[in-house]
Amino acid sequence: MKSEMKYVFVIPFKKELVEKTRGFKVAVRAAEAGEIDRISASVSPKALHCIELVGESLAGVEIKKEWRKLPLVFRLEKAGPLLDIIPSLPGLSGSMARFYFPATRENITSARVLSSLMVKTGLLIGEETSEWEALEDLLAYDSCGKVAHSAVEPFLRVYTGYKSLHDGYDELYLDREGVFFHCDESGNVALSREALRKKDCIGSLDDLPGLDLDGRALAARVERRLPLAKFEGCAVCRAWRVCAVRKSEKDRPCPRKKFMTALLEAAEEVNRNADDNI
Ligand code: SF4
Repeated sequence: MKSEMKYVFVIPFKKELVEKTRGFKVAVRAAEAGEIDRISASVSPKALHCIELVGESLAGVEIKKEWRKLPLVFRLEKAGPLLDIIPSLPGLSGSMARFYFPATRENITSARVLSSLMVKTGLLIGEETSEWEALEDLLAYDSCGKVAHSAVEPFLRVYTGYKSLHDGYDELYLDREGVFFHCDESGNVALSREALRKKDCIGSLDDLPGLDLDGRALAARVERRLPLAKFEGCAVCRAWRVCAVRKSEKDRPCPRKKFMTALLEAAEEVNRNADDNI
């Protein structure tokens, strides 16, 4: 892989920024759905990692026929009342668009219903997530369920990528440091969505060599391995391979451990069944 294609710049949709990042992969943040056609006309399919839209609810989101093959990612607060989504279902189901929600109890229930309607969903499982039991139920449905459904992320990502040491489901959220570089309207670059929000930038798209992407990627990999360096906490947790958080506090039991272990076991089981079917 060409080194430029290892890194993804997450940019707002501005012509100058598309020009400055030419040769790299880009995830383009659309301010509104009306920009989708212009983004797909401005960025080559090979360079387009995804188009990201932020919104409140799935109700009212329309997927036009010509968008069905586009890598659209919606980060929404909630699915909203399912009855309000019914008119949009023919466009949503079967399209490549994926809809991410924070992993609240209500959204976990919605993800299950939407998945059974063949709508691609995902849950944002972060450090502050707490609905572990509801997530375990959804995981059981997704990994063992015999009824046809669309896979829920990040489960699918873990089933397919958990054996790779360099893979992690935080990539789905464009959140992996050293892979995704987040830019503002002026071309300032930060190492994460949060760092950009705090205006904690490492340089500008006007000086690409000064960003030292390879050096940043290496430093981020070292940082991710740090919790595994001592024989305690995450290093002695079986689930470290599938857990993108890896922030166990030494003196406190980890609240994520039970779910992450179930996720690892589900991935092993899904892969065992796949091997048996060969
Ligand atoms: S589940 Fe907890 S202990 Fe295990 S790797 Fe994740 S954060 Fe660390």
